[in-house]
Amino acid sequence: MLDIRMIRERANEVQEAADRRGIDCDIAKLLEIEEGCRQRRAAVEAMRAERNARSALIASLIREGRKSEAEKEKAAAAKLTDRMTADEAELKRLEDERDRRLLEVPNWISPDTPDGTTDEDNVEIRRWGEPTAAEFPVKSHVELGEELDLLDLRRGVKVGGSRQYVLKGPGLMLHRAVQQMALDLLDDEGFTLLDVPVMAKEEAFYATGFFPVGLDQAYRLEEGGHYLAGTAEVPLVAMYAGETLDLTEPMRLAAATPCFRSEVGKAGKDVHGLYRVHQFAKVEQVVICRADPELADQWLERILAHAEKLLRLLELPYRVVAVCTGDLSYKNYKQYDIETWMPSRGAYGETHSASNLLDFQARRAGIRYRDDIGRLRYAYTLNNTMAATPRILIPLLENHQQADGSIRVPEALRPYMRGMGEIRLQP
Ligand code: AMP
Repeated sequence: MLDIRMIRERANEVQEAADRRGIDCDIAKLLEIEEGCRQRRAAVEAMRAERNARSALIASLIREGRKSEAEKEKAAAAKLTDRMTADEAELKRLEDERDRRLLEVPNWISPDTPDGTTDEDNVEIRRWGEPTAAEFPVKSHVELGEELDLLDLRRGVKVGGSRQYVLKGPGLMLHRAVQQMALDLLDDEGFTLLDVPVMAKEEAFYATGFFPVGLDQAYRLEEGGHYLAGTAEVPLVAMYAGETLDLTEPMRLAAATPCFRSEVGKAGKDVHGLYRVHQFAKVEQVVICRADPELADQWLERILAHAEKLLRLLELPYRVVAVCTGDLSYKNYKQYDIETWMPSRGAYGETHSASNLLDFQARRAGIRYRDDIGRLRYAYTLNNTMAATPRILIPLLENHQQADGSIRVPEALRPYMRGMGEIRLQP
């Protein structure tokens, strides 16, 4: 959320930033409503002062025994109260409308974000590893998974409906191994590892910028009205909502959680295999730091580097792209995606998303700290995927398949796979 005073002062720039993202957002209307709130609030306050003055007058008229004058004043005061009640209701309506619109105003855009409309306009920053041209016909992760008995899509759908899956034996071991390796790497980087609720209250989603934009992506539980989080970013940030933190050192948090997404609007998109499912597991990094743009920039690079290290250890070719204005989530100031080579697609596919939000999230959540001169300031927040699985199993299985149909387990992952060097069909 942006500061309403800042929106007023830099209205044209805020409108331009929304336009560059292709987001429908009327800043002039927001400011008009805000002005309406200001005027209405002033009117209500003036009426309240008048009513107080009248109450004092009525009391003194009664004390002096001037009954009929007191009655007249009482009637006028009652009319004033009616007017005030109506104006207060209108003020509340206007404030709700202002808040609703304010929550939909997107973040600023970093100066180095490329312009563009879709992910096809994202700009490649660097590549690591070369997609290998296999000397045998390459199979997809679905073929490999089913042939090696790692994956049962049919029964996944039978139990859970579309976009569901069952992982089996070494398939499940791979899924867990990647997550544990991701957590260990973050532990080495000084991250605090947490287990957090993924069933969260609505306010946690508003506080972190996932609602109201994105409301349709979340599953709501009938009982209690909780929602299932699509990422640990929700609980990791919301757990500090309303708090004043010691940010002498940036807070580094990580959690491995199940993630749930309705994927509404993605009908027919990425329906093959494990790419876009309703339930997956993700190890997420979150950093909360002082409101220092340079520091946040450095941390964005660092959390990106953590994910790149994991991919290198997994021996997976990838590229880093700067996400363009049209593909940038409305709450992000700057975003990099990592795309990993997926042979069955003959293309790189998104596996990680790293974002710097400045104070957009912390302002909504009310996460603050005291700066060097003791002033309360909103913190900056950043996040990045460390590992999202089963999507990462696509490049893992497909890039490491061997001519005989087995899968080579990358060296670094073997300790997490009980030493298994290859996955092949058990007799
Ligand atoms: P996001 O939090 O949307 O930036 O997504 C982070 C990562 O989670 C993506 O790069 C994917 O690797 C993974 N992911 C997101 N949505 C899905 C999904 N529906 N199914 C499988 N993996 C997903």
